[in-house]
Amino acid sequence: MSLKNWRKLTIGGVNLEPGSALKNITASFRSGKKPVFNPDNCTNCFFCWVFCPENAIIVDREKITGINYDYCKGCGICENECPVEKEKPITMEDEPVEY
Ligand code: SF4
Ligand code: SF4
Repeated sequence: MSLKNWRKLTIGGVNLEPGSALKNITASFRSGKKPVFNPDNCTNCFFCWVFCPENAIIVDREKITGINYDYCKGCGICENECPVEKEKPITMEDEPVEY
């Protein structure tokens, strides 16, 4: 079977199942780094939650409680945006990559 040239694809698209993003685990492309959360150092400012592009920061009862590794892509934005200067509550750490 040959694939269509992109110029022959139908323009536009329809999402037949809105709200279905949670069914698709998207973290399989995380490339060797993942954020590790330590609640002891967290001030619950929510900066990481606001900036995370994958909505992977877990909130429970108005507090940050962890990272959802099913959707985290390992970009490190949460660590970069966290304003805590010493002993950051979120640190990017190496993780094994499976190919
Ligand atoms: S590493 Fe990126 S995707 Fe993962 S929790 Fe942090 S900001 Fe979100
Ligand atoms: S940005 Fe840092 S201090 Fe603020 S909620 Fe996230 S982990 Fe906690």
